[in-house]
Amino acid sequence: MTSSTGLNHSDLNSPGLNPSRSQPSRLDPPSPHATPRTFNRPLPPSLSGETLALLASIFFALTCNQGFWAAVLAGQSAASRGTWVFALAMLVALVGIHFLLVAPFITHWTAKPLLSILLVATACATYYMDSFSIYLDPGMLRNFFATELKESRDLLVWHMALHVAFYAGLPIALLWAVRLKRRPAARAFGIRAASLLGALAMTGGAIALVYQDLSSLMRNQKEVRYLITPANFLYSSVRALASGQHAVAQARMEVGGDARLADAWRGRKKPVLFVMVVGETARAASWGLSGYERQTTPQLERLNVVNFSNVSSCGTDTETSVPCMFAAVGRRDYDEDRIRHSDSLLQVLQRAGFQVIWRDNSTGCKGVCAGLPEERVDRHPIPELCEEDVCLDEVLVRGMDGVLKDRKGNLFVVLHQMGSHGPAYFNRYPPAFRRFTPTCDTADLRACSRQEIVNTYDNSLLYTDHFLARAVALLASKQAEYATALLYVSDHGESLGESGLYLHGIPYAIAPKVQKEVPMVMWFSPEFLTSFHLDERCLRQQAGRPASHDNVFHSVLGMLEVEASAREPSLDLSRPCRTR
Ligand SMILES: [Zn+2]
Repeated sequence: MTSSTGLNHSDLNSPGLNPSRSQPSRLDPPSPHATPRTFNRPLPPSLSGETLALLASIFFALTCNQGFWAAVLAGQSAASRGTWVFALAMLVALVGIHFLLVAPFITHWTAKPLLSILLVATACATYYMDSFSIYLDPGMLRNFFATELKESRDLLVWHMALHVAFYAGLPIALLWAVRLKRRPAARAFGIRAASLLGALAMTGGAIALVYQDLSSLMRNQKEVRYLITPANFLYSSVRALASGQHAVAQARMEVGGDARLADAWRGRKKPVLFVMVVGETARAASWGLSGYERQTTPQLERLNVVNFSNVSSCGTDTETSVPCMFAAVGRRDYDEDRIRHSDSLLQVLQRAGFQVIWRDNSTGCKGVCAGLPEERVDRHPIPELCEEDVCLDEVLVRGMDGVLKDRKGNLFVVLHQMGSHGPAYFNRYPPAFRRFTPTCDTADLRACSRQEIVNTYDNSLLYTDHFLARAVALLASKQAEYATALLYVSDHGESLGESGLYLHGIPYAIAPKVQKEVPMVMWFSPEFLTSFHLDERCLRQQAGRPASHDNVFHSVLGMLEVEASAREPSLDLSRPCRTR
């Protein structure tokens, strides 16, 4: 892509040096300062547009993608040759992708201003990504264009100025120091086309080389692609702006704008600590409390929790179910776009005065916790619970003292589990929970018998039972300071070989029951029951009736005595059991 000669075209084509030139190139209008050039004045180095685009792409790949590199290389051994091949292929792909994005827009006139803007924007983006552990997906950019821009002025602080000065200031200084080569139009076009084809081939080749590893990574952590910077925000900005001029207005539809604590809250002395556990891939058919022949929930049984035995999920995958279970509309009036662009239960609770925190040991909050604090526990792994960046769910409880320490008032904490996420069920529990044997100790389910797969899955539920018991124990220990309660509900079920099906994600209309029926459990401290006038015996009777994710939004608001016009009392499972 670079010229091999030391001389460049503008030198050769300068009037006076090349008298045989009959017509000026379109790329090369006569300069007002065109004087015969003398060679005793040192000239700054000159680069072609392609070289500049390549250098910028290498700069982005190496210095602006720490999050991406950490995510794709997590768990890989530096001693393994495969890791290096994978890393090198990713580097080539990253450079190639950015070259393909940048090079088409580089001309003699646009190169410097365009790259300067891109460098500043990228430095800002990496600052936000590093500071807030965010993914710059279209939703985030939509949000940013709509609301954050105004609020983010407060964040323009020294740290950011330094970050931008370092990551954008230095490269911009270098950029403006170089001269750009000029080429005749036809030649410039040919070189540009060839360089783009070359970049395309190299990117394709690099991806093909590590396709297997890459595709499994993308299947498990789709959101990793939103760490590729600056491609992430370029792509997301286009998507966000293209989703209509109304993108700004569409950012987030307010739900429960009138949310407030009911009058019954007056005189309440203790604040509330409510923990909602979002389970992963737990199915009702294998839940001991709901009648499974194996006791997969011994600890919850002893805790005498309220078990809802007939609950259906909103979807058969995480992406559908998690936003849906926090939404006011749910499945009965399902509209994915509307759900994704509306406030969730969490924003409504915040508006009513709760502090809301999302703690995640899974794949993030799927937009549900937009604008609220989200803690990724795998970012701060605890050695005895985490291997590389994969942590056992107890890590969610372990950090709770830190969460409570600095906060006062009513708290609503969501714990998002790794749960029974397959196919590597054997990775979801420590050795002490390997009680049903033999197990399937590989992610390749084809290598195991059905019974081995079922045993392994059941062990993962035993561990979820233990994790929930730990969460209840923590809440029980905080009763002096808080009125405490816990709600657990899984996002969707799982097929374990019934009708030859495994895992989940079958379209809802045709999905088997095992993928749609999920466990749901509630636990209340005595203080909570008294303070909120809840009749637990009545709740136990209610718990056998059909319920669904549609009830979550309305029941949580009902139990916590939060008034909002969005709340539908008929969907509040606790309503028949409140004694005032
Ligand atoms: Zn899930």
